[in-house]
Amino acid sequence: MRKTIIAGNWKMNKLAADADQFAEDVVGKLPNDDSVEAIVCAPFPFLSSLVKTADNSKLHISAQTMHFEENGAFTGEVSPAMLADLGVTHVVIGHSERREHFGETDETVNKKVHAAFAHNLTPIICVGETLEQRESNETNAHIDAQVRKALDGLQKDQIETAIIAYEPIWAIGTGKTASSDEANDVCAHIRHVVENMTDETVASQMVIQYGGSVKPANIDDLLGQSDIDGALVGGASLDPDSFLQMVEAGT
Ligand code: 13P
Repeated sequence: MRKTIIAGNWKMNKLAADADQFAEDVVGKLPNDDSVEAIVCAPFPFLSSLVKTADNSKLHISAQTMHFEENGAFTGEVSPAMLADLGVTHVVIGHSERREHFGETDETVNKKVHAAFAHNLTPIICVGETLEQRESNETNAHIDAQVRKALDGLQKDQIETAIIAYEPIWAIGTGKTASSDEANDVCAHIRHVVENMTDETVASQMVIQYGGSVKPANIDDLLGQSDIDGALVGGASLDPDSFLQMVEAGT
């Protein structure tokens, strides 16, 4: 049985006091149920404090990106070693906003995924098509290529523990959610690609999330699908009650 993983991606939002308040509000209220996992993906300046508040709780703390090198002359960057040293457990890699605005490519995504595993960080790897690609029936081919490149060169046991988030770009922050069937079809396709790269056991263990305008009102429908094992939520994850409701939906 795969776990359900609900991750809130705060993007570039909140100030330190709101971030701490959020963690204090949710840690004691998370369901005591091993079938669901809750993650907050926070900006770098809040990570240290969030890790402390989340210590001994069921909340996991994730970064939203990182560099692939361990250290060096990369002004402004944060390394996987720094994240692991803080107690961060996950890292989002290849979010479409990073690909669009910050030059992230399939090659850097792959390097970062390898670097994450080298530091015991679980990568949450984002893939997704543009509206243009969807309308010209290129979704599956595009996703296939993104998944293969992101996972290239990994061991099977690493692939099994990686998380893939399918986030159609046209559904991010637009209020347009892919229908649960559309989302499930692509998540099933991702599982099929992973099976081709590895084997059926690995593919059946891998957690595949959907992201794009997920909120308490539509999460039940999405999580009810055969191949959707969780959600990567942006806007609706900023409010602690709404985040908790979505985690609860995963139980
Ligand atoms: P929204 O939930 O705000 O559409 O954002 C989705 C997303 O990009 C999560 O990573």
